[in-house]
Amino acid sequence: MKIVNWILAALAAAGVIFCAVTAVSYYTFPAEDYTRQISDLETETEQVKADTDALERQLAERAEEIKEDLSRAGDEGARVQEEIARLDGEIASRRETAAALQERVDMLDNIYENTLALREEYAGKIRQLEEKIVAGESDAKICYWTFDDGPTYVTNSFLEAAAQYGAYVTFFTSREANSSDYDDTEETERGILRAEAMGGHSIQNHTYSHQYEIYGNVYGKGIDSFREMVEQQDQWVYDSTGFKPGIFRFPGGSAWAFAKLPKEEMLAVLDELGYVWVDWSCDIFDNSVANPDGYTAYNTAMYEIRTMNIAMILSHDWNAATLFAFQRAVPQLQEQGYLFLPLFPESWCIGNTKILFS
Ligand SMILES: [Zn+2]
Repeated sequence: MKIVNWILAALAAAGVIFCAVTAVSYYTFPAEDYTRQISDLETETEQVKADTDALERQLAERAEEIKEDLSRAGDEGARVQEEIARLDGEIASRRETAAALQERVDMLDNIYENTLALREEYAGKIRQLEEKIVAGESDAKICYWTFDDGPTYVTNSFLEAAAQYGAYVTFFTSREANSSDYDDTEETERGILRAEAMGGHSIQNHTYSHQYEIYGNVYGKGIDSFREMVEQQDQWVYDSTGFKPGIFRFPGGSAWAFAKLPKEEMLAVLDELGYVWVDWSCDIFDNSVANPDGYTAYNTAMYEIRTMNIAMILSHDWNAATLFAFQRAVPQLQEQGYLFLPLFPESWCIGNTKILFS
């Protein structure tokens, strides 16, 4: 078996484990439920331990009584012996219960750290594969299909399609970008973000407001406003999923952003907030101005990606035409050897994916 196949097998295994643990983590988040659950269990554990201690004291008293009152020998003595044996059994069973409860408390206490450790392992394996591809040591190809501006009412259909084809994708999310959706309540959006996380996809930051116009609050109102828009989305994703994003995509792309605010200042803000940033290498032009039909968007994707071993596609999960393009392109690209993987901050793409104007 070639080394690349080993890496691919490990990658697949790590992906499955990561998704499973992410799903488990989801049920123990958000923090309120999680903390209450641990606190309940801790109370229960303490209670069982206290009961066990009380029983032990009772048992010791009984034993003392036997020693003190020899007249209780005979039938009475046997009865007391029996009672002591029963209490002994009860203590053993309570100890077992306490140990099992303690184990569950420990597991819940560490599940978030365990998930993060698995995430890092998974990202490390993807990075390893990227390096093999870049060095020409692997025939594998990677497609990072990214969706900007969601979640929207179309997002669930993208998630279904991704699950159908075993594809992992990346969402550059923005709370307010599609606030005119027919059902854009906080609860609905949180639900979609969680579904993205449970599907093993990457959820990243595309600012809270997405107002990237000249007077918008992303670039038009100074660096502090820019920072606020990044921080707010960061918090929104964390509160909704329990995971902090680490990759930023500038609304309008980096070229537009750097023309509006000093590049160094923006990069310093991102760095300070723990972010790297990325553009894209393939644009399927599914924006509202070009507004292509599904077949055109599909053709653009297939044409643009043809020379790339590691490609990053820019698209939007508010566009139903894009859904058609995605459903059609993914199985064909998989046949050509492309793996659809979630983007992590450790990726080779960071700093290497320039906007290509083809
Ligand atoms: Zn956008």
